[in-house]
Parts: sequence; structure tokens; C-alpha cells
Amino acid sequence: MRVDYHTHHYRCGHARGQMAEYVEAAIARGLDEIGLSDHGPVYHLGPNPHAAPRTAMSQHELPNYINEMIAVRDRYAGRITVKLGVESDAVSGWGDHFRRLWRQYPLDYVIGSVHWLGEWSIFSQRRPAGRTVDSLYEEYLHATQEAARSGAYDIIGHVDCIKTVGHLPDRTITALLDETVQVLAETGVAVEVNTSGWRKSICECYPRTELLERCHHWGVPVTLGSDAHEPEHVGWQFDDAVALLKEIGYREITTFVQRKRRMMPL
Ligand SMILES: [Zn+2]
Ligand SMILES: [Zn+2]
Repeated sequence: MRVDYHTHHYRCGHARGQMAEYVEAAIARGLDEIGLSDHGPVYHLGPNPHAAPRTAMSQHELPNYINEMIAVRDRYAGRITVKLGVESDAVSGWGDHFRRLWRQYPLDYVIGSVHWLGEWSIFSQRRPAGRTVDSLYEEYLHATQEAARSGAYDIIGHVDCIKTVGHLPDRTITALLDETVQVLAETGVAVEVNTSGWRKSICECYPRTELLERCHHWGVPVTLGSDAHEPEHVGWQFDDAVALLKEIGYREITTFVQRKRRMMPL
């Protein structure tokens, strides 16, 4: 079973292409399912409905996004299964907001990703004044636990993403990291093997191998995503991802239908 549950399109302001082009790419690569999961709106930066224009869609665009996904899914029915998703921010203190928000739409799954620690983006090169990498990493892991416990999300996106632009904390499996994986297991969320890290200078997928091994150890289910920001990224290095999962011991992959989990053979 090959699914790509993590794709972005023109609405977020930093990806290229129409939804249909991603679906066509998935058909060309022989995927069984393609999930649409553009960056949902930002809410925590104040009342401006488009507070982070090159980061995520505007709040006003959300209904259009949902309607376009439904139209694309229906247009491709019989050729490929198109799943309706979203990559939502997971921001500390905003779990109830996002749980209520995403219930209002007919989504198959919601990816919750920690992109923000308060108003600080984890993709900023510069750290907030007075903060060490390790203190940011701790906050990031606590935010990840909170996201899993919130009930707002089905999948936790790119779990060790804070490493992307070089905030590299202690990378051993610390007690807090292992505790975080146990929280993921207890709450029943899935993690994605997100292959986009292999396209970036960090050159490793999310989560990295040792962390994925802990996920397997504690019984956290997995899904697959390329985090495509252009149609050519769909299915990126999935053979490598599947080989890694099998080596670690995974035999099943998680799919979602209307926010319910279905395990399929890998
Ligand atoms: Zn993006
Ligand atoms: Zn993301």
C-alpha cells in the first residue's frame, strides 16, 4: 500500500502547483492514495486573517480549500483515491480551537505540526534572545505531547523538525524524548515518515532512524508523506522510506477514512 498524505499547493504561498497536478503525479508514480494537506490558516498571531502570508493560507481561503479538495476527489474517483486532509499548526494553548475547527469539515485526516513555539517559527535561523537550543527543544517536545493529547490531530507531522535549519539539540534518546514517544503511543496518534528531510541540507528523514525505532518499540503507528511543495516531490524516496520502516520492523501503514484509522499491509 503506497500513500502520500502530505502535499502542499499554491494556497500556502510557498508551494507550486494545482491540486490536480499532485494527483496526476501520484497516478504517474503508481500510488494507491494521495492526500491533500495544505497549510491550514494561522490563528495564534493575532486578529489578522492572513497573518503569515507566505507560510499558510488565509483564514478566508479555508472554505474554498475544502470545496476544491472535494471537487478534485470527485473528479478523480475511479482513477485514484484522493483523501481530504490539512496540515494544521499545533500551537501550545490552541488545541481546543483546532479540535473544534477541524470537526466542522469533512476531512479524512488532520496532520498536526509544531511549526511555532509561541511567535517563534522553528524555521527561523535566529533563536529567541536568551534561549538555548536545548531549552527550545524541550519546549518543542512538550508542545508535541500537548498536540497528541489535544485530540485535534490524527497524525503528528515531521516529529523532529526543529533540526531542519540547524537547531541541533542533544540528539541521544533522552528521557523526555522517550516520554514524548510514549505519549504518542498512548494517545493513539500516528506519526508520518516524512521524506522531505532527505531533500534538505539536514539529509535525514523525519523522524530520524533512532527515533523511528523508539516509535516502533512503543507501538506508534506510521503513515507516509513527502511534504511535497511541487508536484515532482510526490512519493519522494518512498522506496527508501519503506525499506527503512521494514528494517525497523513495521509491517503495516496507517490510512485514514473520515478520521478513522485503517491499518494496511506495508
Ligand atoms: Zn510548506
Ligand atoms: Zn510542516
